[in-house]
Amino acid sequence: MAKLLRCRDVGFDCEAEVRADTDAEILDQVARHAREVHGLEDVSDEVVAKVLSVITTEHATT
Ligand SMILES: [Zn+2]
Repeated sequence: MAKLLRCRDVGFDCEAEVRADTDAEILDQVARHAREVHGLEDVSDEVVAKVLSVITTEHATT
């Protein structure tokens, strides 16, 4: 089971998806992605709150 975040859900016009086991890892990857791809230097509290609100849990399909 993994957590999934779609960049689009945060408000970017972007198809990128981030998967990780924890919210902290998601935020870490999102911060890097936002900086490298979207030129966002700082991830504000507002963005963090938005990210946390749109993280979904991916259920294993076995
Ligand atoms: Zn993106």
